[in-house]
Amino acid sequence: CGIIGYAGSDPDTTENVLLDGLSSLEYRGYDSAGIAVANGMLDVYKRSGELSVLESTLDGKTVTGPVGIGHTRWSTHGPPTDENAHPHTGCSDRVAVVHNGIISNDESLKSTLTDAGHTFESDTDTETVPHLIERFLDRGYSPAESFRHAIKRLDGSYAIAAIFHDSDEIYATRRQSPLVVGLGADATYLASDVPAFIEHTDRVIYLEDRQVARLTPTDVVITDDDGERVDPAVDVVDWDP
Ligand code: GLU
Repeated sequence: CGIIGYAGSDPDTTENVLLDGLSSLEYRGYDSAGIAVANGMLDVYKRSGELSVLESTLDGKTVTGPVGIGHTRWSTHGPPTDENAHPHTGCSDRVAVVHNGIISNDESLKSTLTDAGHTFESDTDTETVPHLIERFLDRGYSPAESFRHAIKRLDGSYAIAAIFHDSDEIYATRRQSPLVVGLGADATYLASDVPAFIEHTDRVIYLEDRQVARLTPTDVVITDDDGERVDPAVDVVDWDP
């Protein structure tokens, strides 16, 4: 239901930016929360219940890394359990995905992927996405290509963000579900709604349907779903936090 993403120069602030962002998205309503941070590995923490449950799970742990994504879930596919909370990973913990909305062809994707040897850990439609991405990584495609190939196979309405274990990039896309990019001085942000990062920046790019954003700590590149670069409009939002 709520998405936050951060790519920044200070790996120690990532966890706080994600948790603060999720807390400012709480008004959307949710039943579970989680974060993933990439630092050579993927650190994933997710819990059903309120954000405070996730926060107490994280208490005393050091979660650092240059990029991370976070999610508050409003269940549509599967009950609110720790396993069904986002982020979701595939079989090999190379990619972590958060998702708002519904993937309507999830049943057929699941059976194709299961036939190809993938094992699912959740009841969600979302988990099809990291498995699809993995499938393209396995065939030698780059993270960017694997992300684009995977999202082209999805039907439904969604906002999706993915991070990879060994990269400081976030990939994101949307279709009939809001997603906005924030441009900071030494970091970039991603969210389902501006309040999630407004304390850090008011310079934003509203993603259009099917566009793909690639965020790094210093740069944002927007392409169409074939990888052709587009020149996005940068807005300055007037927001009184
Ligand atoms: N359909 C997904 C799920 O049930 C995402 C729901 C949401 O928008 O939070 O996990």
